Amino acid sequence: MSYTDEQICTHSFDTPEKHHGAVSPPIYQTSLFAFETFEAFTKAQSAERENYVYTRGVNPTTEILERKLAMLERGERCKCFGSGMGAISSVFLSLLQKGDHVLFVNTIYGPTQELVEHLNRFGIEHSFTGEEVEADVQPNTKLIYVESPGTMTMKVIDLKSISTIAKQHGIITAIDNTWSTPIFQKPLTLGFDLSIHSLTKYIGGHSDVVGGAVIGDEELIDQISKYGFQLNGSVMSPHDASLILRGLRTLPIRMKQHEYNTLQMINYLKTKEEITSIHHPSLQTDNPIVKEQMTGFSGLLSFELKEGAFEKVALFINQMKVFKIGVSWGGYESLINAPIKRDNASNLEAQGISPGLVRLSIGLEGPDLLIADLEKGFQAVQTIKSY
Ligand code: PLP
Repeated sequence: MSYTDEQICTHSFDTPEKHHGAVSPPIYQTSLFAFETFEAFTKAQSAERENYVYTRGVNPTTEILERKLAMLERGERCKCFGSGMGAISSVFLSLLQKGDHVLFVNTIYGPTQELVEHLNRFGIEHSFTGEEVEADVQPNTKLIYVESPGTMTMKVIDLKSISTIAKQHGIITAIDNTWSTPIFQKPLTLGFDLSIHSLTKYIGGHSDVVGGAVIGDEELIDQISKYGFQLNGSVMSPHDASLILRGLRTLPIRMKQHEYNTLQMINYLKTKEEITSIHHPSLQTDNPIVKEQMTGFSGLLSFELKEGAFEKVALFINQMKVFKIGVSWGGYESLINAPIKRDNASNLEAQGISPGLVRLSIGLEGPDLLIADLEKGFQAVQTIKSY
């Protein structure tokens, strides 16, 4: 039987007797599971990734979350981790070996890049590419790693064509699908092997938990569970799994609201002369891929302030009262941030990121207060012009 995303997010899939009818499944806050006999223990331990033996293995609460995430992504299996970076590093550590090459497509989350730079010392190479993916495949490319949309300029990449190229060359494909969530994009249905999430963002949704997940077929997830999860040990706490399950119950409805609010904010931003461009996939109407592979748009967007520099960006951001200044995104609350620092403008430009780029994560407050906030920012930067 196939289920809709709304059903997957809300249905318990358990018999009512299983948890005494509890509508919210219990938190198995335990590090280990005890056995009646030594024989039963050794039998369970011989297949530790299928049996409840130790929470750095399988835990019943986390397993419910894993089942739901696998269903949402239309994948066979999911493994959850203590953070998005735990999930990403587990993929790299499990699938790569000395002499392998990783090809990155699009702008990539900074710490993911730092991780692979670190892996250089273990003989793992990497390079970056834009649209010309096939031309940049190397004989030793083992993994093509994509973010689409990217999370700075929100550029969308053609996932089907990448997975087709990768299959022709026998290369594994992985995507960081955090921006869209499985509600708006299902990369496994477009031929990708692995879909990765920082659950810290929309899926958790309440900015009170850090977590990660990888979804793919049985074989790849088993390999990742063994080497990346059990041996690397980035474990999700069962309590955190329960918080993320709570987030999941409202994910489809929250995503619709984030989208609605964001489109209204974009309409407002379009009226501002102080902005040179706005970045959000909803505006990439000339790109047919956007419509083909995405069914909606989340609330992370960016815009470029005219003649943006550190002082101007700081003045703008410092006017905010409702937008919180901070890292991360995808929660119920609106956030503002910018990649500019006092000394990195040329680095940003080399990556195609404007020094005046301001990033907004549009929350669930509704546009009125947010627009009032931004209005103050735009008024303040006008004063800079007249100096
Ligand atoms: N991927 C993207 C696109 C992110 O923005 C982040 C965090 O900001 C991560 C992965 C890492 O996730 P976590 O912070 O849960 O480790």
